[in-house]
Amino acid sequence: MSGLPIVLASGNKGKYAEFAAFFGSLGELSCFSLLCPDELRIAPPDPEETGESYEENALIKARAWTNTFGLPAFADDSGLEVRALSMKPGIHSARIADGSDADRVSWLLDKLNGVTDRRACFVASIVIAFPRGVNLGERDYFAARGRCRGVIADEPRGFNGFGYDPVFIPDGYTETFAELGGDVKSKISHRAIAMNGVAKMAGCVVKYSGYGI
Ligand code: IMP
Repeated sequence: MSGLPIVLASGNKGKYAEFAAFFGSLGELSCFSLLCPDELRIAPPDPEETGESYEENALIKARAWTNTFGLPAFADDSGLEVRALSMKPGIHSARIADGSDADRVSWLLDKLNGVTDRRACFVASIVIAFPRGVNLGERDYFAARGRCRGVIADEPRGFNGFGYDPVFIPDGYTETFAELGGDVKSKISHRAIAMNGVAKMAGCVVKYSGYGI
């Protein structure tokens, strides 16, 4: 393994796989080496997400993990904003209705029953936090936001992905994310865009600071 070790502040193996692919493809991230969750020997923290924005929640998670492991950590927080629902469910997307992802998709389709304006947007904030005492130009974290615009389908279609993927049709396509699959999603998703932004910022600063070298 070469590069500065970094941990993903999430126990979600699906997210780990998605981010491992990003790390493999982004040249700017060559100074980082993503640690596999199985390599971590201490129990990870599980902080309460009390923030009022995606970025605040991502920062809470990234800081908790960086403090526990003494390593740079990155976290994402994301949600779906639906125009006809005053941008809800937003930061509450994972908990807006009890039960499974399918229950939350049903909740959304019920709310949009008969509604013609079906525009929506996935939003993600990603934060990379650094351990206390590391001086990277007076900053101990970097954050970036990504958006992916689209419309909500009339009914679920497709089997890939998670969450609201079966009803989200990104602009420029006629299929849902769940039909399009990971290859398209890894190029145009809100998380891919946010990751590109934060990776460029943090990667540049780490390289020029000489941290970890
Ligand atoms: P969190 O970022 O893990 O807190 O998740 C936020 C919630 O937003 C997820 O549980 C999903 O319901 C929804 N969400 C965020 N990103 C996506 C996505 O790419 N596809 C489908 N649903 C998503």
